[in-house]
Amino acid sequence: MVFFCFLVDQKRMVRNSKPAAGTCSRCGGGASVADIKTATRFCYVPFYWKSWRAIICTFCGATLKSYR
Ligand SMILES: [Zn+2]
Repeated sequence: MVFFCFLVDQKRMVRNSKPAAGTCSRCGGGASVADIKTATRFCYVPFYWKSWRAIICTFCGATLKSYR
């Protein structure tokens, strides 16, 4: 019997963040500049890592602006 695994997910980790000027366009919460690391996983095995910096909402987690 053959199992096919098509489970791909992304895990986002905010490494450090500090308050930034601006508010969220979705919920009006405070914005912060954060260093984010995104791991793309296939069958729970990470195969692609990306570090980037973005302005995110501290309340709902929406990405307001990304620098890359
Ligand atoms: Zn928000």
